[in-house]
Amino acid sequence: MKIEKMLKRYRVDHGKHFRLKDHDPADTHGLDSEDKDEAKELLANGVEELSRLQDILAAQDLWGLLVIFQAMDAAGKDGTIKHVMSGVNPQGVEVTSFKVPTEEERNHGYLWRTSQHAPARGRIGIFNRSYYEEVLVVRVHPEVLTSEKLPKGLVTKDIWEERYEDICNFERYLTRNGIAVVKFFLHLSKKEQKRRFMERLETPDKNWKFSAADVKERGFWDAYQEAYEEAIRATATEYAPWHVVPADHKWFTRLVVSQALVKELKAMKLEYPIVSGAEKKALGEARRKLERE
Ligand code: AMP
Ligand code: MG
Repeated sequence: MKIEKMLKRYRVDHGKHFRLKDHDPADTHGLDSEDKDEAKELLANGVEELSRLQDILAAQDLWGLLVIFQAMDAAGKDGTIKHVMSGVNPQGVEVTSFKVPTEEERNHGYLWRTSQHAPARGRIGIFNRSYYEEVLVVRVHPEVLTSEKLPKGLVTKDIWEERYEDICNFERYLTRNGIAVVKFFLHLSKKEQKRRFMERLETPDKNWKFSAADVKERGFWDAYQEAYEEAIRATATEYAPWHVVPADHKWFTRLVVSQALVKELKAMKLEYPIVSGAEKKALGEARRKLERE
């Protein structure tokens, strides 16, 4: 299978003409359940490659990678993070989940809490939800905007456009500093969400994952889809692209995400640090000293 071609299909780096309805949540790029072995192998390869590349990322200590996950409930953010990152060294990764902002967080601009968890050089930072909630849940529920501590005169009809602009600028700032930004929208169908909610209700070990609030949010499905479409249109750029990943089949979601991350890291042309002549000499001396012991 041509991975390049598959990734191209889901990558959105010019948002202008983006339409969510051109993307099928059940798409598997022609792979069906009979090709699952091939898919499994590709996922395994992706996980292995990620592990290899992360090692160089950390050694070189020059680039960083910020990975953002956004999706409707039960689209598989947690499972994707768990599976895709299963091979990487935990010391080089930080996963941060963003919930309803606390009092302290609301006392700052909305990029404050996320900036604190942006990855350092040599590291991978994963956001399970992000500042994009500020143009998603906050847009769908105007009362949330009212609860934010913003001076009244600053909340105008332009607020969403302003936020898109600030988000783009923030992402450009990060990339200009050597922190690459890659964003995933796990695109789930309404039908599959219902099936997964039912499964959570019917399976005792999955009950904990269910929250009544999720069913309430499901009631705002269309408004969320619109908010996602608009946000992706306004923030899909060459320097911080979105990937609209079909999410009705978990095995496929994981495959696409792992391969997209591999591609992103490969594009950095990472290299282990080159040891200088003087350093080589010092290594030789250290070696001789150990041999003499
Ligand atoms: P979960 O990821 O299921 O634990 O849920 C976290 C909840 O926090 C979701 O319902 C999000 O919509 C909500 N949330 C995250 N960020 C924000 C934000 N900036 N403003 C309001 N709600 C948020
Ligand atoms: Mg939830």
